[in-house]
Amino acid sequence: MKKTWQIAVIAGDGIGPEVLREGIKVLDTAARLDGSFELQFHDFPWGCEYYAKHGKMMDEDGMEQLRKFDAIYLGAVGYPGVPDHISLWDLLLRIRKGFEQYVNIRPIKLLRGAPCPLAGVPREAVDMLFIRENSEGEYAGAGEWLFRGKPEEVVLQTGVFSRKGTERIIRYAFATARELGKSLTSISKGNALNYSMVFWDEVFAEVAKEYPDVPTHSYLVDAASMFMIKEPQRFEVVVTSNLFGDILTDLGAAIAGGLGLAAGANINPERTYPSMFEPIHGSAPDIAGKGIANPLAAIWSASQMLEFFGYKHLAELVLQGIEETLVEHEVLTPDMGGTSATAEVGDEVAGKIIRLF
Ligand code: ATP
Ligand code: MG
Repeated sequence: MKKTWQIAVIAGDGIGPEVLREGIKVLDTAARLDGSFELQFHDFPWGCEYYAKHGKMMDEDGMEQLRKFDAIYLGAVGYPGVPDHISLWDLLLRIRKGFEQYVNIRPIKLLRGAPCPLAGVPREAVDMLFIRENSEGEYAGAGEWLFRGKPEEVVLQTGVFSRKGTERIIRYAFATARELGKSLTSISKGNALNYSMVFWDEVFAEVAKEYPDVPTHSYLVDAASMFMIKEPQRFEVVVTSNLFGDILTDLGAAIAGGLGLAAGANINPERTYPSMFEPIHGSAPDIAGKGIANPLAAIWSASQMLEFFGYKHLAELVLQGIEETLVEHEVLTPDMGGTSATAEVGDEVAGKIIRLF
């Protein structure tokens, strides 16, 4: 019997639906070529437009509805007029936290043919795998607003680093580095954040003892920002906190071809709950509806989904399809210097993987 994977599709707002359509096209093509499994997609109409109509980002029992799926494929949520903290907390973070997707994987790899703003840096130098803590830390949502509006007003935003949360992300990163035969770099800020990051560094050193075969490095986040630009070859697998990972992976996206190429996976490693795959860009309302959004980030995150399902060969095939499309430079969207439409780029990548298979 053919294995069937059930995928919940939350296309969301703006360019979300436009780019996911192409990702689904490529996923379907890969599944057809392979022949050993099937993908079933189920649409959920949630997001900011839904919020405008129903006063909520997703159904009350949304998490129960999503729970039975093998994966979630997310486009983008966000809409001018709906505050970002609502779209973020009521949907994205609810799913990430509720489904214990405590690992955020963001490949920062400069594919051949992708634009790079760094001068004098060889393409191969930009090849990092960021593993970002995705469930607590600076984004735990903890804090206090004291004496609001008074002269003595004080606002506290508390970073929450539990032993469980810190150990599991660092251990996941070590296991990944070992599997890939690469070094692991921890990025923190122990000199200034005298509780959270001192603790982070301690846990990193402890877990490192379990993986004596994995070479390690540690950087302060400020120094890491500089070296990512000057000498990106220093970084292979990288583990860092929620906030630092958020910022550094946007920096990484900029040096690895831009937002139109940056993909991310939110993983629940225990597979108790579905994991979620998404392009890291937002809804881009300025270009929504024009058919010119770059679908490559969404397609790359589809490749991450295939890898998560255990089809590494297909994941690599899709990445190769993206890379060949970039190298040829004939069918690309305007942000990559081309003149093609979103759907044409999806067709091109799908065609390429059929030829490469
Ligand atoms: P949101 O509020 O949902 O985060 P945003 O306005 O911040 O949306 P982003 O999607 O995060 O927009 O990206 C910022 C800009 O980068 C967009 O306005 C758009 O011009 C460009 N951009 C982002 N993603 C893409 C893409 N896939 N293809 C082409 N351009 C993109
Ligand atoms: Mg944004």
